Parts: sequence; C-alpha cells; structure tokens
Amino acid sequence: MSLIIFGSINMDLVAQVPHLPRKGETLQGTNFFTTPGGKGANQAVATAKLGITTEFVGRVGGDKFGEELIISLQNSGVITNHLLIDKSANSGIAIITVDNHGENKIIVIAGANGRIDDTDVNILSQILTGKPALLLQFEIPMSAVVAAAKAAKAAGVMVILDPAPAQANIPEELYPLIDIITPNEVEAAQLVGFAIDSQEAAFLAGKNLCDRGVKNAIVKLGEKGVVCVTAEERFFVPAFKVNAVDTVAAGDAFNGALAAALCEGLTLHQAVVWGAAAGALAATKLGAQASLCDRDELEKFLKEREETNNS
Ligand code: ADP
Repeated sequence: MSLIIFGSINMDLVAQVPHLPRKGETLQGTNFFTTPGGKGANQAVATAKLGITTEFVGRVGGDKFGEELIISLQNSGVITNHLLIDKSANSGIAIITVDNHGENKIIVIAGANGRIDDTDVNILSQILTGKPALLLQFEIPMSAVVAAAKAAKAAGVMVILDPAPAQANIPEELYPLIDIITPNEVEAAQLVGFAIDSQEAAFLAGKNLCDRGVKNAIVKLGEKGVVCVTAEERFFVPAFKVNAVDTVAAGDAFNGALAAALCEGLTLHQAVVWGAAAGALAATKLGAQASLCDRDELEKFLKEREETNNS
C-alpha cells in the first residue's frame, strides 16, 4: 500500500560563484553540478528513504534531464509507473547561483510541471483508492492541486499539503479538503495575512487555518520549533538542537517524516517529532535530496536525543 506524492520534479543546475553576479557582469564560477530536486520529488525521496512504499505522480519532459530524473527517483526506491513523460515539453529546471556565504539566486522554469492538468489528475485518481495519504505542494498548477485534493477526499485518502512556495489567495475551497497543512512562517503569513513573529502568532495562524476548514494545521518555525493546532488541542514541539549548515530541504524532510510516521500509525504528536528530527538532520547536511535521512539515521537520532533527555 503505497503513499502517493503528486507534485513537481526538477533538475537543479547549480553554479557556485565567489559572489552573486551584478547586472551585466560575467563571472568565473568555481564549480557546477546538476542534482535532482523539486519539492514533490524531494518529499517522495524522503518517505522512500524512511522505508515507506512511495509512488510519485507527476511529469517530466521528453529530454535527457527527464530520463535522469526518473532513474534517480527509481534509485531512491520511488515507484514511477504513473509518471508521465511529456514529449512536447522540457523537464522542469531550477538555475541556482550560490555564493561562498550560501546566499543564492534561483530561477525556476516549471517546464513539464507547469503542464500538469486533468490528464495527470485522472491518472492519480485511478490509483488513489486504499492509499494511506496523498502529499501535495504548490509547484504545480493550483487547479491540479485542488482537483487532486478533491479526488483524494472522495477516495477517503488523507491529504497532507505543504503550501510552498508561499502563495497568497489560495482558493478557499481547498482548505476543507486538507487533513494536514504544513506552512513555514513565511507561507503561514501569506495564507493568514499577518506576520508570524511569535509562537502565539503561529498558534493564531494555525487556528485561522482550522477555522477555514483544515483539520490540522502545523506551522514550521525553523530552529524555533513547530506548533500544531487541531479541533481538539494545540501543542508545541521544540526543534532539536543541531549544528545547522544548510537548511535546504529541511521542510521537505519534515513533511516526508511526518507522513511516514502517520502511515506507521503513530499519533500526530509523534509524527511531528519525527518531522522535527528529520528536518534537524537535513539542516546538518548540504544539499536537498542528499540531506534526507534514512530510517536507521532517524531512529538512532531519536533514541540518542531521548536518552539525553532522560539522563
Ligand atoms: P522550510 O524548509 O519549509 O522553510 P523549516 O525551515 O521551518 O521549513 O524547517 C522544517 C523543520 O525542520 C523545522 O520546523 C524544524 O523542526 C526543522 N529544522 C529546520 N531548521 C532547523 C535548525 N536550524 N535546527 C533544528 N531544526 C531545524
């Protein structure tokens, strides 16, 4: 019984530079590499690495990057049987320029991701029944996100939405279709229209989202922890203290581990702890998919921290 991720998949083209180029400047970079990314693909790799059977539904182009992206998902153990190859499109890419201080400039070209439509939602609908959860994000067209959430709701499948990248004015009809929404501070602020500048503001944002129809709202506050609001309760889970070097994909790691824990029948509180642990571990490593932890790493980390707390 596989968890399903419906979302984006990109090839990241990363150029390392001494400083970000100014207007009109030609700069000698120090390094270049390509690496698979996209929030959908990252979250699929996150759950697969944690030992959850995972299927990715989305689109790549009919280009070399598309072939590489599929192989890379498969190598991470993700099922790609229903991934569409759109011969008339290019695969999604992100052109990332990053300097020595980790400052970056990113251009995303959605490519095949931006062409996701009813065709893909129909493919998704055919495999939803009986699945434990559907994970969604905002790097594909909003109409497809809404249609996918409707299909999941109709099939009785739990919907976990990461409303990233940040967007204001998402359709109100989406909220009642969501079982768990997981914005970070910036995304939550966009959704509710006020700044998330304290833990109390995060709780208020969570309540606002629940009032609009979401069942459970989880607001991710980076190294300040996580707040969770449901109809019955509200709670805070502190972040694990780690030596953070790069928080890229911390949010994807969080969502993957949260979903994995729920698939294993853990409580929402325990699932948030798994998410916080996977997010913290991702922050200790460079890269996106490369920083996602596997099951052994997660269990070892949780056990160590539990022992520290009890000693
Ligand atoms: P996003 O990547 O979506 O912006 P966050 O940065 O809030 O999301 O990270 C997601 C989760 O990962 C956080 O809620 C937290 O549990 C964990 N995390 C992220 N950064 C750190 C950090 N520097 N130290 C410890 N945990 C972190």
